[in-house]
Amino acid sequence: MEPYVSAFFLQAHLRGYDLYEEHFNFTIRFGETHDPGVAASCETPGRIITINPEIWASRGELEKEWIVFHELGHCILGRKHRNEESSTSECYSFMKGAENDFDCSINYFSEYWRDYYLDELFDQHTALPEWYVENQDYAKALMSYPHYQLITDTLVEKFDIDTFRFKGKDTFLFEIVFHNLNSPVNAVLMALGNLKFSSCDKCLATKTSLFLGNDRIFASADISLNTDVKLSIFRNNDIVSFYVNEYFVHAMEYDLIEGNTLRTNTFEEPLRLDIAYYYH
Ligand SMILES: [Zn+2]
Repeated sequence: MEPYVSAFFLQAHLRGYDLYEEHFNFTIRFGETHDPGVAASCETPGRIITINPEIWASRGELEKEWIVFHELGHCILGRKHRNEESSTSECYSFMKGAENDFDCSINYFSEYWRDYYLDELFDQHTALPEWYVENQDYAKALMSYPHYQLITDTLVEKFDIDTFRFKGKDTFLFEIVFHNLNSPVNAVLMALGNLKFSSCDKCLATKTSLFLGNDRIFASADISLNTDVKLSIFRNNDIVSFYVNEYFVHAMEYDLIEGNTLRTNTFEEPLRLDIAYYYH
């Protein structure tokens, strides 16, 4: 775990904090956590961090880093849990806890989010990043575009298009309306290259999801529509924002998206689709 510990103190230095590893007496070890579902815990006093080896082994590099950073947040920075989230379940802090079944979503794969979460880790009064706050308004996405392509009223279960060529466009808006009314279909998906954006009205735990490849980067349980579903993706320079029925759900850097294809899936049942692609 030493590389993660060193990285923690490096991030402190990068932010101007005089924290040095050799000034702290602390221990990190593998062992049983008080609750087998908990990844790690920090005992104070004593500054003993215990990490559940099974959970540790199941996590990727970035999530391992977060486990160590979270515990050092308790043990070194003296931070308590901050169980706060946005209206779409976005965590405001890496110091999220699980008290009263609290859960929220962290995009571990975004460098932009990582920078914010690290700022917040060392200073809990850190404001949400401007690029996040300023790219939420759907009216901004609905600017006038000189070019557009429309595919309307198509009855289809799956769709696979590689002619939109969105990769080179700095500003674009994709809107797909899945006409879901009175249909037994539970879930719809739109995929832009390696990004998967799905909505599942009848799912209990997660109604809106974003995946990069097989890695989940966003999950929210709070959006219920019971009607047509419109999924939108808006790119504005380096930021990409996601909306369900014009309701903002998440934003991150566009760089994470690879590939140039658009796919849809309505899971076993064909639905009527309206696809609109606007671009500069
Ligand atoms: Zn904790």
